[in-house]
Amino acid sequence: MSSYAGSCLCGRVRYEFDIEPKVTVACHCSACRKATGSAFATWTLVTKDHFHWTAGEDEIAEFSSSDHGRRMFCRTCGTTLGNLTTRRPAFMHLASGTLDRAPALTIKFHAYVGSKAPWYEIADSSPRFDELPDSK
Ligand SMILES: [Zn+2]
Ligand SMILES: [Zn+2]
Repeated sequence: MSSYAGSCLCGRVRYEFDIEPKVTVACHCSACRKATGSAFATWTLVTKDHFHWTAGEDEIAEFSSSDHGRRMFCRTCGTTLGNLTTRRPAFMHLASGTLDRAPALTIKFHAYVGSKAPWYEIADSSPRFDELPDSK
């Protein structure tokens, strides 16, 4: 069994989980671009039952970026930590870049490529979808 762990930039917020993630995806939607300040966001889906904050849970602030989604970030350093959506309520959508230990992580597909930043070219051969594919 692999064990995964991560934290925000300042280290106040920490988490762990001990299950293989369901999937890791790159999201090119405009909301993810704005929220992360990057060309795209990478999200690792972990069953909430197996995901644990191990420090700093009271440091986590939230922003509702849509009628179904809440984005979570560290109050102190601003690091994007993850998001929760009522469309997939069983999963924490963890910001993959916050992982310190990620033994077997690969991006399975690119979502919302139809909204991709025009100045970024996808360089890998993972499948690409204009929006979100039906079977996530
Ligand atoms: Zn922080
Ligand atoms: Zn997105």
